[in-house]
Amino acid sequence: MGLVSMNFECVVVGAGPSGAAAALAAARRGLDVVLLDGATFPRDKTCGDGLTPRGVHALRQLGIIDVLPEYRNNGLKLHGYGGSVTAPWPDGHYGQEGSAMPRELFDDALVHQARTAGAQVWEGCPATDVEFTDGRITGIVTPQGVIRPKWVIVADGVRSPFGKLLGRTWHKGEVYGIAARSYCASPLSDEPWMHSHVELRDSEGEIQPGYGWIFPLGNGEVNLGCGALSTSDRPAKINTKKLLSQYAEHVREEWDLGPEQRVTSAMLPMGGAVSNVAGANWMLIGDAAACVNPLNGEGIDYGLETAQMAVNRLGTESDFTLTWPFALREAYGEAFVLARTAARLLTYPKFLPLAGPVALRGPVGAALMPAAARLMGNLITDEDRDLIARTWRTAGKAVSAFRRDTPLWSVE
Ligand SMILES: Cc1cc2nc3c(=O)[nH]c(=O)nc-3n(C[C@H](O)[C@H](O)[C@H](O)COP(=O)(O)OP(=O)(O)OC[C@H]3O[C@@H](n4cnc5c(N)ncnc54)[C@H](O)[C@@H]3O)c2cc1C
Repeated sequence: MGLVSMNFECVVVGAGPSGAAAALAAARRGLDVVLLDGATFPRDKTCGDGLTPRGVHALRQLGIIDVLPEYRNNGLKLHGYGGSVTAPWPDGHYGQEGSAMPRELFDDALVHQARTAGAQVWEGCPATDVEFTDGRITGIVTPQGVIRPKWVIVADGVRSPFGKLLGRTWHKGEVYGIAARSYCASPLSDEPWMHSHVELRDSEGEIQPGYGWIFPLGNGEVNLGCGALSTSDRPAKINTKKLLSQYAEHVREEWDLGPEQRVTSAMLPMGGAVSNVAGANWMLIGDAAACVNPLNGEGIDYGLETAQMAVNRLGTESDFTLTWPFALREAYGEAFVLARTAARLLTYPKFLPLAGPVALRGPVGAALMPAAARLMGNLITDEDRDLIARTWRTAGKAVSAFRRDTPLWSVE
C-alpha cells in the first residue's frame, strides 16, 4: 500500500489495557479515534493476570465490568518463614472484589469494547516513526501510511519503543521488577484467594531473593509465577524461569499442579521512574509511564486509571508537557515514592530472611499483615481516615520531601 495521510482527533499507540481503555473513553467522548497495535489480537502478554479491587473498580468506572468472568477473589494469602497470613481485601473505597483473567482473553475483550464504542482499531500496525512541527506531533508513521493526529496517547508498554522516539527515559537506578509466569492446570483453580510466597528456595535449599505467586483463574488453571526486585546497582542475580520451575515443584503436591505451560518472562517498570512522559499534544500512560505499584507489580489498574485521566484532559489544555507529569505526581507520587523506597529494602539479600519470620509468624504477623496487604495493594485513598491510612499518607509526604530529587515523571 502506498503512503497515505489520515487525520484523527485522537491516536492511541498500543492496545493493551491502557490503550484500549483510552480509545474507549475517547470514543465515548465523541472523538474520532484510532487505536494502533503492532500485534494482532488475541495476543498474549506476560502477566500474573490478577486484579485487586482497585482494578475491578477501574473496570466498573469505565462501564466494562462485564468483560470479567464470574471468578472473584477475596484477598491475599501470604506464606513463608514458617507462617501464613490471610489478608481479606479491606472494606474501603474500591470495594472488596478482586478477580483474575488470562491476559490473552482480557486484552482482546477490552479491544472489542473500544471498537464497539466507535474507535477504529488497526491491528498489525506498529507506529514506527514520528514527525514534529513546532514541538507538536503532526505525523505518526505506520505501514498503513502517515497518520495526522490532533492528540496522541502513548500506551506502548514497558519498553515503550514509540515513547523512546519522543524522549521517554527509564531510570533503572530505581527499583524495577524481573518476573516469569506460567499456566498450570489445578483442581484448586476456583480457590477464592490470591497466594504469594515470600520464601523461595533453590534446589539446594538456599533462599533466593524473590517471591512467588499463584493466582487462581477459575477456569481449571492457575497463573503461577515468580519475580524479584532489582536496581542497576543491585541487579537480582536469578534466572526467573529456573526459579519458577523450582517454585512449581515446591507447591506441586499442595495444588495438584499439572506441568508449567507457556512459560514467559518480562521486566516491569515501577513507581513512575521514567522521565519525559508528555509533550505539547501527547501523553504517556500505563507501563509506558511506569505506572506500576512497586510493592506488588500491579499495573493494569493504573493503566485503566491513567487512560481515563489522559482522555479527560484532551481539549482542556493547549500543552501537556508540564501538566501531565504534574497530574501523575498529584495522583500517585507520594504513594509510589514511598512504595519504591520500601521495595528497595527487598533488593538487599539479607532483608527478607531477617524480616520475613517476624512479619509472617505469630501475633505480630496476624496484626501487621492485613495492613501490609492494604498498603501493598495501594488500596488506600485520600478519603480513608483510619490510623493506617493517616500513617501511610504522613510517611508518603515525609519520604517524598526527603527524596525530592528522585526521578518521578521528571521533565528533562
Ligand atoms: C510477570 C508479570 C506479572 C504481572 N502481574 C500483574 C498482575 O497480576 N496484575 C496487574 O495488574 N499487573 C501485573 N503486571 C503488570 C501488567 O502486566 C502491566 O502493568 C500492564 O500490562 C500494562 O498495560 P499497558 O496497556 O500499559 O501495556 P501492555 O499491556 O504491555 O500493552 C502495550 C501494547 O503496545 C503495543 N505496542 C508496543 N509498541 C508499539 C508500537 N510501536 N506501535 C503500536 N503498538 C505497539 C504492544 O504490542 C502491546 O499490545 C505484571 C507484569 C509482569 C511482567
